[in-house]
Amino acid sequence: MNIETIESAALAAIAAAAHERALDDVRVRLLGKKGEITTLLKSLGKMSAAERPAAGARINAAKNNLQAAIEHRRQALGREQLQRDLAEQAVDVSLPGRQRAGGSLHPITQTLRRIERIFAAAGYGVESGPEIEDDYHNFEALNIPAHHPARAMHDTLYLQGGLQKGLLLRTHTSPVQVRVMEKTRPPIRIICPGRVYRKDDPDASHSPMFHQVEGLVVDEGIAFADLKGTVVDFVHKFFEKDLGVRFRPSYFPFTEPSAEVDVQCVHCFGQGCRACGHTGWSEVMGCGMVHPNVLTMAGVDAERFTGFAFGFGVDRFATLFFEIDDMRLLFENEQRFLKQFA
Ligand SMILES: [Zn+2]
Repeated sequence: MNIETIESAALAAIAAAAHERALDDVRVRLLGKKGEITTLLKSLGKMSAAERPAAGARINAAKNNLQAAIEHRRQALGREQLQRDLAEQAVDVSLPGRQRAGGSLHPITQTLRRIERIFAAAGYGVESGPEIEDDYHNFEALNIPAHHPARAMHDTLYLQGGLQKGLLLRTHTSPVQVRVMEKTRPPIRIICPGRVYRKDDPDASHSPMFHQVEGLVVDEGIAFADLKGTVVDFVHKFFEKDLGVRFRPSYFPFTEPSAEVDVQCVHCFGQGCRACGHTGWSEVMGCGMVHPNVLTMAGVDAERFTGFAFGFGVDRFATLFFEIDDMRLLFENEQRFLKQFA
């Protein structure tokens, strides 16, 4: 076969080799021990001395040309493979990342922290107590002896067999103030936030479990004016609005005198609207001067010390602050509702 035919067929085969293995097959076929070019070179020995130099030069040139073509093709195939690898392993930096859902504080927790911040800034400590209480701390020590009519108002949840043992779910956070007075000498200045329980059917403004904050200040010379100033200041700081505050005489067994506190409606500023039952006011708190019997039972000298106490619903403050019209929403853990307060 003539060298030109072999060379042009070989160049076509090299160009057509689609991968390194095919290219290597072409190389072996041309330049291997029994390859076409190798065979031609071996045939030089049979030629005459006159023919040999020209034919030798021609075959060697073809051999060098094909070797260069093979090397060139090998590099090209390597670059193509690299491009394919890069394309396969590419990271699309424009793809949006997978977002991790962030949690947020429940509106009641936000409200509690807001309350705690305001009182902490005024020098109050934060105290807690057991949610399973005994009859003595929940009632008796708060001047509510057995058969006192006030007990009926509390709709108490007793533990199974607890009526005999005197164990119940606390109906208010007031027992914490008794526990603090029992172990601390005045001056006392505390708030007691926590869960309380009553046998109530849930509706827009009731829940069998809700949250209260109890406040207690005991020292020499504490007067009703101190209570009034504290409550008005707290209301203004909490709502960040200059709302009217009024005190109505009331009755609680553990305070004397006692008052209920109304705050001007946050929706209508006293004009009257559906939220406030067209009265312009919202009931938010009970308070009064600590009854001397309560001080005495807790071991505080009622001749020397006086004090005031107040208690209010955190859930009530949360609904007013966030303008939520149904308290049940606070306890249903509906994600779409909670996301509004994130
Ligand atoms: Zn109103």
